[in-house]
Amino acid sequence: MRIDIITVLPELLAGPFSASILKRAKDKGIAEVHLHNLKHYGLNKHNQVDDYQFGGGAGMVMMIEPILNCINKLKSERRYDEIIYTSPDGETFDQGHANHLSLKENLIIICGHYKGIDQRLRDYVVTKEYSIGDYVLSGGELAAAVISDAIIRLIPGVLNDETSALTDSFQDGLLAPPVYTRPADFNGWKVPEVLLSGNFAKIEEWRMEQSLKRTAERRPDLLDEE
Ligand code: SAH
Repeated sequence: MRIDIITVLPELLAGPFSASILKRAKDKGIAEVHLHNLKHYGLNKHNQVDDYQFGGGAGMVMMIEPILNCINKLKSERRYDEIIYTSPDGETFDQGHANHLSLKENLIIICGHYKGIDQRLRDYVVTKEYSIGDYVLSGGELAAAVISDAIIRLIPGVLNDETSALTDSFQDGLLAPPVYTRPADFNGWKVPEVLLSGNFAKIEEWRMEQSLKRTAERRPDLLDEE
């Protein structure tokens, strides 16, 4: 998989992709993330990427041309499955979207800034719009990092067996059960007995019960979706 991220602040994204699981995905050649500095596609000698909004009002709007020039250059090199815009008014990004996108080959993610991008790009060029939650960020970079991380960790070979994505929350419509590690007794705080029993059938049964209980308590909406 390849993800191309268009941003005015590539330095904000360099960190998340140079450590841990995302770095491993890159080192193994499973997923590449390329950052494109929109200023390199800016207009005139000021490398302008934004302008005042028509109709007046506070806040700049990102112009069509620099973003479109960057997208067209990328499209001339390969075919893209989706052109994603991160936006608070987009569909709320969830595990289902991550699963779906992890099967794709090439994605572009556009990070907005200021008041966002010119609506015509959204109408004519963007194919998917995702929000990472009901709050407003100052730019799309952190949203792009969240979306990329959620997608890339699902690609086979990225995670080790012991961190398998299949047992994570939401994969089966349930929250994950509680987890414990050594010591089995920390000053009287005890690990549930069943986990020390070595009886794997019983352990599985306990985990499923805990998943259901936790989901019913914390996210009953997930059970309603069935
Ligand atoms: N004026 C816009 C907000 C712009 S915030 C509005 O009220 O809807 C600037 C940029 O940050 C957006 O263009 C978007 O790319 C990003 N952003 C902000 N909040 C986000 C969220 N919850 N999810 C995804 N991207 C977000």
